[in-house]
Amino acid sequence: MSKSLKCVWTLQPENPPNPIIPCKNCGVLKPFKPSGKFRLNANGTRLDAWLIYKCMTCDATWNRSIFERCNRKQIAPDFLEAMQINCPEQVKRYAFDKTGLPAVAALSEGEGMVTVHKQIVEGTARDWTVLEITLNAAVPVNLRLDRLLAQQLGVSRSALKQLARQGGLLDGNDEPLQLKKPPKHGIVLRLQLADHTNLRAQVHSALLADEFVEA
Ligand SMILES: [Zn+2]
Repeated sequence: MSKSLKCVWTLQPENPPNPIIPCKNCGVLKPFKPSGKFRLNANGTRLDAWLIYKCMTCDATWNRSIFERCNRKQIAPDFLEAMQINCPEQVKRYAFDKTGLPAVAALSEGEGMVTVHKQIVEGTARDWTVLEITLNAAVPVNLRLDRLLAQQLGVSRSALKQLARQGGLLDGNDEPLQLKKPPKHGIVLRLQLADHTNLRAQVHSALLADEFVEA
């Protein structure tokens, strides 16, 4: 009988992307970093909101538009309040979202790192043949799924590719996964390792070496 180990992995990128913007002070294109603050501007019933960035060379600011000329009634009061107090969760939500950003500075060594918090929700790390992982990637990560799995499970990407080809690595609906793309929030991965003794032993020892958060 197959035994399942069910986990939730919460992914957190370590560094937000740094857009490359023409700096009006430096006079050339420079990488900017999020300042951690929003700016709101009210004009009658119309509101503008920006996330403020700073030039990494001279601290000149650049305002990244979140919305413009929006009727106050269309903005959820909670969201408005979160922006007024520069709520770190909301700042993070925008700072880590690359959508609409112009060119983004290349990450230097270690900056593409993703922290993975692991939690077992069913079964034990010692005794299983099916590993089911739900990925919580509420903040988008810039890491291919196969690289993430290879890093976290202590196996090679080619072994994962082979497993997927043999039908041993599928999503929660038993459909093939897009291994070359960053994982989508909430996706379920299922590794059937009953017939893959060597691979299972590798994953098993990687999991035993992990620290799991208490469920
Ligand atoms: Zn500058």
